[in-house]
Amino acid sequence: MAQSRREWMRNGLLASGAALVPMGPWLQAREARGGRPAQGRRRMAFRFRPYTLQLKHVFTVAVSSRTTTPVMLTEVEYDGVVGFGEASMPPYLGESHETAAAFLSKVDLGPFANPLELETILAAVDALAPGNPAAKASVDIALHDLAGKLMGQPWYNIWGYDPARAPLTTFTIGIDTPEVVRQKTREAAEFKVLKIKLGRDTDKAMVEAIRSVTDKPLTGDANQGWTDRQQALDMIGWLKERGFEYVEQPLAKERVDDLAWITERSPIPIIGDEGVQRLADVRKAHGVYSGINIKLMKSTGMREAHRMLELARALGMKVMIGCMTETSCAISAAAQLSPMADWADLDGALLISNDVFDGATVVDGKVRIPDRPGIGAIRKAVTG
Ligand code: MG
Repeated sequence: MAQSRREWMRNGLLASGAALVPMGPWLQAREARGGRPAQGRRRMAFRFRPYTLQLKHVFTVAVSSRTTTPVMLTEVEYDGVVGFGEASMPPYLGESHETAAAFLSKVDLGPFANPLELETILAAVDALAPGNPAAKASVDIALHDLAGKLMGQPWYNIWGYDPARAPLTTFTIGIDTPEVVRQKTREAAEFKVLKIKLGRDTDKAMVEAIRSVTDKPLTGDANQGWTDRQQALDMIGWLKERGFEYVEQPLAKERVDDLAWITERSPIPIIGDEGVQRLADVRKAHGVYSGINIKLMKSTGMREAHRMLELARALGMKVMIGCMTETSCAISAAAQLSPMADWADLDGALLISNDVFDGATVVDGKVRIPDRPGIGAIRKAVTG
């Protein structure tokens, strides 16, 4: 197959999942130079820098509260083309500016001659150290952005997905007092579905406050906050009566048998989030959850997230594409997968006040993926 891919390139065409598409500007320029990269610029260069996202509201979930999120912004440059990536590291997940810098310092893409050989390159990056999923994602996203730009195509085209099928996205309402929750619900007017953070003893008061100002469909995320399986099931029944479409991670991820017990009896889908990190977890999640929440910062990026989505679909499971608080860089990367998801939760860039990218947006409550090569994110003129 590798040989035929090179043949397509030589002929000015590259196969995508959907169709044969014209080759990108980089390949055209390379053709013009006689098929060889410019001398002295053929090595991939990798850069990273720390950045701190400022959240618009204090963000409270079942286990923590915070006002900032540390991220690492990355770039891979090859032959004058730059791919952008990002690692978002909410503190409770264990990664930080320090751990990401330690991992990313080990990344040397110089030895890889062909930036389109994502399988080889990303397997080598994954093998550098265990863990570090967000740091790994920042390399994966930058490489996908670069590769898409070199091919002149957005990833939804390369994967053969129809961007018009991108689903509605939820807007997340964190745990707060009834007054603040009502205010946040009013601010989320353009969203057609809301995601409510649950998992504390204020759950019913939160939901009733939201229901007093909107009749939109709702979704819930307990973030492992409930402890008794029968009480959790009763709560899910109560939520269903109030228009909830699904509930994420009702119990601690380790309680696999109790989660399967709830899923079997629940009137609405139960989605695994904390319990489903990478590809190997998808098969184990079958029978435990009705569906999975795929996030690039858990899966180590787009390559594995794409495989998780395809495997979950093959197993007949529901798929949700989620995010952390992230700039429009990582959100745009995740949005490339959204046409094949049942639900999207891609509001991460809307929760911050210092985004340094333009990219995927929400229009009429739906994810709109930019019609640009790679992940479709462009850096704003002024950076922080
Ligand atoms: Mg969740």
